[in-house]
Amino acid sequence: MVELTFYGGVNEIGGNKILLKDQDTRIFLDFGKSFQIQKKYFDSFLNPRKLNMIDELVSFGQIPRIKGLYREDYLKHVDPNHSLLSGGNEPPTDAVLITHSHQDHIGMIPWLRPDIHLLGSETTKNILQYWQVTTSGDGSEYLDWYPSFQTKPRKTKPKKGQSSFIRVRTKAKYLKDEKRTREFTCLSPQKTVQVGDVEVESYPVDHSLPGAYAYIVKTSSGNIGYTGDLRFHGHAPELSNRFVKALEDTDIKVLLCEGTRAEDKKSFGESKLKEKLATAFASTKGLILVNYPARDVSRVSTMCRAAAESGRTLLVSPKQAYYFSVIAGEKDLPVPSDDDFRVLLPRKDWGIWGNQRFDELLWAQDYRYPDPVEKIIFEGSDLLTPSDVVKSPSEYVVTCSFFEFGLLHDLNPQSDTSYIWSRSEPFDEEGQIEYDRVLNWLSHFGIDEPVTMHCSGHLAGSEIQDLIERAQPEIVVPIHTERPDLFTDWHKDVRILEQNDTLSL
Ligand SMILES: [Zn+2]
Repeated sequence: MVELTFYGGVNEIGGNKILLKDQDTRIFLDFGKSFQIQKKYFDSFLNPRKLNMIDELVSFGQIPRIKGLYREDYLKHVDPNHSLLSGGNEPPTDAVLITHSHQDHIGMIPWLRPDIHLLGSETTKNILQYWQVTTSGDGSEYLDWYPSFQTKPRKTKPKKGQSSFIRVRTKAKYLKDEKRTREFTCLSPQKTVQVGDVEVESYPVDHSLPGAYAYIVKTSSGNIGYTGDLRFHGHAPELSNRFVKALEDTDIKVLLCEGTRAEDKKSFGESKLKEKLATAFASTKGLILVNYPARDVSRVSTMCRAAAESGRTLLVSPKQAYYFSVIAGEKDLPVPSDDDFRVLLPRKDWGIWGNQRFDELLWAQDYRYPDPVEKIIFEGSDLLTPSDVVKSPSEYVVTCSFFEFGLLHDLNPQSDTSYIWSRSEPFDEEGQIEYDRVLNWLSHFGIDEPVTMHCSGHLAGSEIQDLIERAQPEIVVPIHTERPDLFTDWHKDVRILEQNDTLSL
């Protein structure tokens, strides 16, 4: 018998964590973060505590209560003898099959024990590496893992009142020998791999993040189609169509189908978006600021092209430039090359770049980025600073997300500045922010309300219906949606499930 248990991803957008059991094989389909649970209980100043992280995440249902699934360094720290979650030489799950590296699909992986195998596209692996390099803390240990809560003996004799041990804070330096690497198998497009008792077929699909895959999992009780997140209106619709064709050609027992935009009638495509942006850019005299998902390379490429068509250049952050170099091997999407954009070096810390009162080594100390990002800065010959933009605002389109709003102080925006919002509003997968706060900042700097121009990473209701009709599955399970009820018009056997429900096949 095959069982699918939905620990997340049902009746909500995101949080995909679906456990597939077939004979002796256990595979999680994604292991993502639930934004709904995060939003319900936490905010930026209230988060699960590090000291008790895994128990607290389990307590709120952010991760499932499964013994032996999680990092022992955390479990032992909380309760070395009695933890209900601790134990087992073998992991209770063999692998996590990752569709793509948006947080709501991968966000909880760092808490898994390190001998659980990861599978996904090569680009997904590279993006996990990127997150790990550019984000600090244990919550970004996707691929490499160091134990937490470690101490080391104090080198000098302890003074009165001092412990003879100190806490290890620089893990990579002091725990070199204890580094563990999670095994990651890069899957090839349209190839089949055996994972325990099941076969997994991988299909690249078009989504708002590079490296997204959908899967057909062949089990002893029939074939399971898993869409992950996908669309037909980005730069590579033929990929999503190839997946749907494979569903058509296969007997599908269960289709786990995303429905983020089940309510929407139709989709607005990336190419139309480019036209709209180019028109808006051309009709703006002053500075143009754009806010878009920084890691959506389709969108970056659209921005670059629209900027070029209106005689401008897109400026990106050093971190973004590093990201493009990380995913340069991505074949299915247009990754921007160095000629398509320039890097804007934001002022940080003391903000003294180029200030003759200070020497170059002091300038460098302003930027405490991880090494590869620093390399972009210090070896990049074509850097611009905010003062360059102030001199010729009409030459540029500046990437400026909410978290980069400090830049506005340096860019001296005039009344002819326009701000373009090119992401879903007010929340999206990359960050949940108060839209009102955006408006407050823009108003403070005398900039008009944002003009919204966006195209989604997900397919619309009519396209979901078409996908289901073509795939002809026996059973449909709506996932990644707040409107599973709409699916009942599109198929005769739709199972609307709650968190922790199990579907037996
Ligand atoms: Zn996604």
